[in-house]
Amino acid sequence: MPFTRPTQGTAIEHAKLLRCVEGIRERSARAVPWEPDTVGIPPGGSDSALARINDVAFYANARNEVSTLAGVCAELLRLHHPQDEGGACGGCRQIWPCPTFEEISRLLA
Ligand SMILES: [Zn+2]
Repeated sequence: MPFTRPTQGTAIEHAKLLRCVEGIRERSARAVPWEPDTVGIPPGGSDSALARINDVAFYANARNEVSTLAGVCAELLRLHHPQDEGGACGGCRQIWPCPTFEEISRLLA
């Protein structure tokens, strides 16, 4: 029933989700870059050297990767936004809320 979907609540939801994603991106950008001396290495669940190398690689890249992923989400949300009139998405022109916004919202909930 796409013509009966609410639009007012999802416009507010869109703004909240965009603020949330931008907050994640800003916190990532301000965070101290990970280094073993500044943040440390949490105790691992495995004694495997390969698993520890994977952990270290994850921590070393997490700040930039989180910031990048949050940036992608923010750009997708800016592209797929409710228009003031017409009840369509400003990006893909499908009925608002469009499938892209609904999926982003579902995945980030
Ligand atoms: Zn859209």
